[in-house]
Amino acid sequence: MNMQKNQIIDLEITDLSYEAMGVAHYNGMTVFVTNALPGEVVSAKILKVKKNFAFAKIEKIKKESPDRVKIKLNQWVQTGLASLAHIKYEKQLVFKRNQVVNLLKKAHLDDIEVGQTLASPEQKGYRNKAQVPVREVKGKLEIGFFRRHSHDLVPLTNFFTTDPEIDRVLVAVRDVLRRNQVPAYDEIHNKGEVRYLDVRRSKATGEIMVILVCLHNDFVQLPRVAAEISQIPGVTSIILNHNPKKTNVILGQKDYVVYGDDHITDQIGNLKFRISPKSFFQINSLQTPRLYNLAIEKADLKPSDVVVDAYSGIGTIGLSVAKHVKAVRGMEVIADAVRDANANAKLNNISNAKYVTGKAEEIMPHWAKEGLKTDVVFVDPPRKGLTPEFIDATVKTGPKKVVYISCNPATMIRDLQLFKEQGYQFDRIDPVDMFPQTPHVEAVTILTKN
Ligand code: SAH
Repeated sequence: MNMQKNQIIDLEITDLSYEAMGVAHYNGMTVFVTNALPGEVVSAKILKVKKNFAFAKIEKIKKESPDRVKIKLNQWVQTGLASLAHIKYEKQLVFKRNQVVNLLKKAHLDDIEVGQTLASPEQKGYRNKAQVPVREVKGKLEIGFFRRHSHDLVPLTNFFTTDPEIDRVLVAVRDVLRRNQVPAYDEIHNKGEVRYLDVRRSKATGEIMVILVCLHNDFVQLPRVAAEISQIPGVTSIILNHNPKKTNVILGQKDYVVYGDDHITDQIGNLKFRISPKSFFQINSLQTPRLYNLAIEKADLKPSDVVVDAYSGIGTIGLSVAKHVKAVRGMEVIADAVRDANANAKLNNISNAKYVTGKAEEIMPHWAKEGLKTDVVFVDPPRKGLTPEFIDATVKTGPKKVVYISCNPATMIRDLQLFKEQGYQFDRIDPVDMFPQTPHVEAVTILTKN
């Protein structure tokens, strides 16, 4: 019998997909059940039927997994803000390690050791930054999160994974916007005003930056709004980011400082870092130094080493090692982040580190051509990973070691194999949990030259 939409069937969940959906088998079909856990028996409603698989949602849990945790707000899971929040933390760590194990199996690299996932010191409230949409819901300006695979705003005031101090600021800014009758953005007509709130807070210094992402670069209520937001305790910087386009991209090109500084300052270990609105900064403040230490230990640096910090952001990795090596060179595609990186070198009295703006896959070949010789190369690319051009050029500079920090183990394993073809070996991958309650997996490994 064929499966039908809206049909209700009993399913036994046997596995978790990489997106943390419960997996069941029924009449030769694979069924993905949102929020169901292995070992559970659920009565499920079929939502969508494809050729070999279907999607379903839980109607009733008939047998519950001991790994299930009760959560306060179902919305956290519904919105995808924290889609693992219904799973015990220890099991989340196992889930993440299994992602890496399974990818290695697929690549016929079963002999590579996979460490236990390094747990995050904080499992909620760990995020130092929140980017939340602003929309009108039932005639009221609301902040919240989009329901999964949609642009329906679910109003929220507790963002669970975000620093509670940031939640406090988000709600206070929402109230300022309401009081001043600032219209929320209307994405269907590309009208209204405030599209997103983007708030960053340093745990170390307490400094808070509020970015109002707006359709226009000015609006009548702006002076009052800025004055009122500046009164919220901790706020040291208010930025208007101008995004006039009809687009899903959150930030526009231009930033205008409407109050205070054009950056906030944070700290990792003994070092200070300035962060501009467009610069990337690791979001889990307490876990970041542990991630970096793991990477740096693996590198086993020597005072004579020439080090590259590729995909450097504001220079956090390179500057963390600069005092222990001969020289650091880094590159990063966002110009503001590179400006921060060079300013951060100065701020910390580091004179042997230099950062340039450009694509890693273009800068590295250029450096290789100039004859740069390296000892250790740190790479920390975005989800899409490295390119073959970058890898070839890196190999030409002759590093003894390449330390790979990845936010996407699939592309990492693809890239590791390219390094392997060029005479580098690796025998271990260590998953690190930077994003508790979400399916995101961070991992670190080291390649050594044969
Ligand atoms: N190592 C930093 C940043 C890691 S995030 C840290 O730990 O904070 C990855 C960085 O790569 C981002 O700053 C992003 O802007 C940058 N990036 C993305 N594509 C790039 C490319 N093609 N070349 C260089 N940098 C790139």
